[in-house]
Amino acid sequence: MSKQGSSQCASSFKFSAVPALGAIRPKVELPLSGWPPGGRWWNVRLLIIEDEPKIARSLSEGFEAEHFAVDMAEDGEKGLELATEIRYDGIVLDWNLPRMDGLSLLRKLRQAGSTTRVLILSGRREVADRVAGLQAGADDYLIKPFSFQELLARMQTLLRRAQETSEILKVGDLMLDPQRHMVERAGKPIKLSQREYALLEYLMRNVGRTVTRTMVVEHVWNLWFDGLTSVVDVYISYLRAKIDHDFSTPLIHTVRGVGFMLSAEPKLEKKEK
Ligand code: CA
Repeated sequence: MSKQGSSQCASSFKFSAVPALGAIRPKVELPLSGWPPGGRWWNVRLLIIEDEPKIARSLSEGFEAEHFAVDMAEDGEKGLELATEIRYDGIVLDWNLPRMDGLSLLRKLRQAGSTTRVLILSGRREVADRVAGLQAGADDYLIKPFSFQELLARMQTLLRRAQETSEILKVGDLMLDPQRHMVERAGKPIKLSQREYALLEYLMRNVGRTVTRTMVVEHVWNLWFDGLTSVVDVYISYLRAKIDHDFSTPLIHTVRGVGFMLSAEPKLEKKEK
């Protein structure tokens, strides 16, 4: 899983309501310079699927230095597993991989409905290879050897494009506009903290699906998870106070013993306690 330096970010991470923070390592959260527009805080999470240790290491170090959260997989099967479990913003995918090649992985991922931006790395220089890569569902194709600066620039372009086309999310009368970073319920603007916003966006992107506390912690906080699920409950309660408190239909539901679900379906109204 991702490796983030803890010294740099400890001071930017404040959680007075939750004790025992020494047990967890928070994600680095810094606005990327000049991107996204407005330099807003943004959790950009990348998966790098590469079997050559030297390249894998230099990619992970390079992206982490640019404040991306990075996960690594060294073979195709592991890569597919991670890419299916976690919603990444972007994937750097080597073509020649043990256990499952990059193109087969990509086809499976696209068949499963993933729209994550994928950049293929390959030593194959033929036009036909590039076409095959794009036909399998790649968004870009970079030939080895390559410069990290070019890879970074291309990945940023892909992610920016994804961001620009990101649609307004709606669940019942709740609306989240990723472009403007705005939330409204029944036309009434709701002011959320950065964490509350990230949590709500995650719940809305998984509408109608149960998300476990571990999934929330891993995606929204990107922590080295150490059983600290109470963080999630605290933030769910903050969100409930802002999103559901003044409205007759609750949208945030507790799925007992499992996690939470955002849904406008009244039949799902099951609250804990
Ligand atoms: Ca390889």
